[in-house]
Amino acid sequence: MFMYRIAMPWEVEWIIERIRAHGFEAFAVGGCVRDMILGREPGDWDITTSAEPARIKQIFTKTIDTGLKHGTVTVLKNHQGYEVTTYRIDGEYQDGRHPDSVEFTADLTEDLKRRDFTINAMAYSHETGVVDRFNGITDLYDRVIRCVGLAQDRFQEDALRILRAIRFSAQLGFSIEEATWQAVCELANSLSKVSKERVQTELTKLLLSAHPDKILLVEKAGLAEFVTDGFAEVFVRAREGAGEEPFGMLYRLPQEKSMRWAGFLRYMTPAESVKILKGLKLDNETIDNVRVMTGGFQSPIAPEKIEIRRMLSRMTPGQFEGILHLKAMDKDEDVHFIRKLWKEILADGDCVRMKDLAVSGGDLLAIGMQPGRGLGEALGFLFEQVIANPKLNQKELLLERLGEWR
Ligand code: ATP
Ligand code: MG
Repeated sequence: MFMYRIAMPWEVEWIIERIRAHGFEAFAVGGCVRDMILGREPGDWDITTSAEPARIKQIFTKTIDTGLKHGTVTVLKNHQGYEVTTYRIDGEYQDGRHPDSVEFTADLTEDLKRRDFTINAMAYSHETGVVDRFNGITDLYDRVIRCVGLAQDRFQEDALRILRAIRFSAQLGFSIEEATWQAVCELANSLSKVSKERVQTELTKLLLSAHPDKILLVEKAGLAEFVTDGFAEVFVRAREGAGEEPFGMLYRLPQEKSMRWAGFLRYMTPAESVKILKGLKLDNETIDNVRVMTGGFQSPIAPEKIEIRRMLSRMTPGQFEGILHLKAMDKDEDVHFIRKLWKEILADGDCVRMKDLAVSGGDLLAIGMQPGRGLGEALGFLFEQVIANPKLNQKELLLERLGEWR
């Protein structure tokens, strides 16, 4: 038998060893085993064990009750947390992140059986090597996503798995095995039962992956209308705007949440983008970034410093940068030239923020202006002057200009 030896962090080895020393079984399991075989850096190391949570809490001094009902205790070692979960058999999943009921078991195979895909259903310890009951290694080599057991049943238990199949295919560049894909298509409408937060997490991971264009599979499988209101329209609009492969260049965008969502939504109006992202419960910062970036993408930028300063005064540098990234994908505006002008603006230290204006509200009060709305309007007027001509950003010059106001 071919034995992999997987290099695990010493903390994981230590945890597994201690559990074994108490007479129980313990393995690294799931995504970390998959990633190590593939030579990818695992996001986290999960441990599965025959010991029940109460025993884990006795064995380790520093633990957190992460999800006792579902068998999960976080063990702290070297300032890091490792999730240790008791072998379990899952009941029906409803809407939450976890099944409604779980049953602990002493059988590792039962625990592996409840997992979604063969490549995610492997366990590992130095003593046993890879425990691969469902031919996960073969599927890793064949580069396919395949359900553990009958795809229909597995998707009916938890419809989120439908989207996870597509997400993993995007992250790993794998195809989806025939029967699994058929079940994805057949059960597409059950995605509407899944909470929007869970759907969003998977879509965000998909867009941040190395193959974000696989988002097209969401449409192809007939899932789009069940994601959130207006989602199906995104594909239609993107094709109108950018042709048959509208997401083929998304992988070039920085791997950042707002950036990738903005790339996906760039042919929707800012208001439509906001509606979709709110529907998917994205955080306000991301929503705001996407709103500004989709808006900026759709309006041409005149290649002049005054226009660039005006834009910079209305958004963060990150948002402006994002707009240029989007434009570089499929607008024929001269992004290089705009960048060059932006660099000059930065090098010259031109004022593009109200706070950098050489005159403050205090200065205006000091020359006898009254507090109130007029004061704000006067500052706005001066700021406009400075955006148009940065050389004016000197106190005397600006106070002189004040005469022209009104
Ligand atoms: P990553 O952390 O890179 O997103 P992962 O494979 O670790 O990938 P997680 O969502 O962290 O994915 O889940 C850890 C493991 O738990 C999976 O590898 C899989 O075995 C199992 N799992 C997670 N979610 C489900 C689910 N909805 N149905 C069945 N098994 C699941
Ligand atoms: Mg994980």
